[in-house]
Order: sequence, then structure tokens, then C-alpha cells
Amino acid sequence: MGRKKTRPVRVGNLVIGGGAPVVVQSMTNTDTRAVAATLAQIETLAAAGCELIRVAVPDQEAAAKLQELVRHSKLPVVADIHFDYRLALAAIDAGVAKIRLNPGNIGGADRVRTVVRAAKANGVALRIGANAGSLHRDYLARYQGDVVQAMLASVEDQLALVTADGFDQIVVSLKSSDVLETIAVNEAFAKRWDFPLHLGITEAGIRWRGTIKSAVGLGILLSQGIGDTIRVSLTGDPRHEVTAAYEILKALHLRERGPVVVACPTCGRCQIGLEELVEGVEQLVQDLPYPLHLAVMGCVVNGPGEASRADLGIAGGKEAGLIFRNGEILRKEKQDRLLTAFAEELVQLIREKYGVNLKLNRASFRLEEEEGGKSRDTPN
Ligand code: SF4
Repeated sequence: MGRKKTRPVRVGNLVIGGGAPVVVQSMTNTDTRAVAATLAQIETLAAAGCELIRVAVPDQEAAAKLQELVRHSKLPVVADIHFDYRLALAAIDAGVAKIRLNPGNIGGADRVRTVVRAAKANGVALRIGANAGSLHRDYLARYQGDVVQAMLASVEDQLALVTADGFDQIVVSLKSSDVLETIAVNEAFAKRWDFPLHLGITEAGIRWRGTIKSAVGLGILLSQGIGDTIRVSLTGDPRHEVTAAYEILKALHLRERGPVVVACPTCGRCQIGLEELVEGVEQLVQDLPYPLHLAVMGCVVNGPGEASRADLGIAGGKEAGLIFRNGEILRKEKQDRLLTAFAEELVQLIREKYGVNLKLNRASFRLEEEEGGKSRDTPN
């Protein structure tokens, strides 16, 4: 899939745009002033594959904690600033990698220029953008309520301001809670400009609804080569934002992370408790970064065929199942032994393929790295 050429923007140790892999980002929902809790959440998100983390900086008290956060964060930190340009300056001083700013609400052009100068001097990137829900009414009036044109005009005015002194380390976002609006405005922007795009469907909702809306909107844009970093906005634990983001990118073959688990929907032929098996396999592999193709199939009609295309698979029979590895039957087990046997075979497969020793944590039924079992080449 061809990607649209955008200019590269350096964000800490990452590059957004310029053909770099699509960056997965999320946002903490802890109180930024609670440094230990925020760092713990960043660590969890990093373990899930998050690459860039945004934190809200609502006041000076939060800004004062940024230096410590940045120093200990496993991920480059983006400071989310509204209303007060001094918070942006404090965040730049604290060493954040990027500032997310709305140039329209921090007190005028001079203050925006002050922030841009500080960002430029310190190698800090800037994200600007428009959100359909908070567009200034003047833009809507100018375009007779055409939200897409109004968002474009708003962003283009912001760009004129922040690029006036030659600054170009800018990522742009154009978000709406409406999927079609988000698609239209990002397509239009990508035709006119080469700044990298941060994609997201804003206020997408609870996990299942938000994931579907994000997959449709982001999937359509990414499939056209548009988008350089994504955030799947979901209400609740941000860990799900990261796993959803990878599922979208994996479906489009844009990134690899963790196993793909293929499972049949079951039908009247199935004679094994398949749902329980699939949930068990998902649980087993949820912390693993290794790209593997796993299949859990209900019966012999499609089962062995699909399972044989997988690195490792189960094909169900009557209250029992076969375990396949690349088309070879490894063993046959009764239903109550199948998951544990599958876990044993997976440990073996990952040892051979990635040189990593895993063990089964029986309490959580997850595979974990053994002490000293780090991969030589952990894929991302
Ligand atoms: Fe039905 Fe078998 Fe297909 Fe699963 S693999 S949907 S059980 S025919």
C-alpha cells in the first residue's frame, strides 16, 4: 500500500511522517500531577505497544510535574495545552517532545509566536488542528455551515501563523466525531499539504462502538495512504486504544505487533466449546509482541485447512481437538487439556522462532517472559 509522502517531523526518538511507520499513540487518563500513577500508566501502555504518550497539562501544578514525568517516562511525552501559553513554555522547558496546542485559544498571535520560537529553539514538535466540535463560529458562518471547509480554513490560518518564521516541525489533526466528516477533511487536507497527519475519530465512545467507528474512519484514510500517527479515542482504559490501533494497522499490513488470532464463528457442526478456547488463546497471548498467525477452528470442514495455514492452530473435533503447526498435526488432546497443550506448543514455537523463553503464568493464564528471556530482536 503506497503512503502519501509527508515531511518528517521529529518527536523525541520517533519520526512522524516522511514514510516512517505509522506511530501509535494514546493519552493518559490519570491526574498528571500524580506522577507515580501517570508513570505506571505510561509503562503499561508502552508494554502494550504505545509509542508516544500525551498528558493533559491543565494548570501550572501539572506543568511543574512534567520534568519528572519526562525524565522517567518510557515514551516521548506530548503536553496537551489549552488556554495558557505559559503552560506551553513550561512544558518546553521541562523537555517534552511535542506540544499539542490550539493556537486559537491561547491568547493571540504574539503568544503563539512566542511558543513557536521556544519550540523551534528546543527541537520540540507542535501539533495543531481543528476539532469539528469546537470550531469558531466565524469559520462556520464563512462557509455557511460546511464543517469540512470551515475546519480546513481554521487549520490553514493556524498554519500561516505557526510557519511564519519558517518552523515546520508540525503535525496536523482534523477530527470530528462524525466518521464521514473526518474522512472528507483529511482527504482534502492531504491533497493540499504535506504536513503529517494525526488521525483520530474524536469522542468515539465506549470500547466496541469507538473501535468500530475508528476502524472505519481511520481504515479508509490509511488505506489511501493518508495518516502518519493514530490515536483511537475510547472511553475507559487507554490500553484498549493501543490494542485497537494495532488491530487496525495490522489489518492493513501497515504494522505488525502481536499475534493475529483467527477464529471461526462456529455453526451447527461445532462440537467443542470454541468460544472458551478462543478467549483462552487471546488471554494467553495478550502481552506478546511477536507477530504470529494463530487459528482456532471449530470443526474439520474448514478447521484443518485454516489451522494448517497458521503458525499454530487448533481444529476442533468431538470434545477434543488437533493442534497443528504449519500444517503438521502435533498432537490430539481432550478439550480440558487443549489450551494448556496449545500454550506448551506456543512456548516451544516462540523459543525456536524468536529465541525467547516464555513461561505460563497459571494464575493469570498468560505467557510471560522468563527472567533473562529477553528477545534478541523483539519486533515492534
Ligand atoms: Fe462451522 Fe466448522 Fe466453519 Fe467453524 S470451521 S464455522 S464449526 S463449518
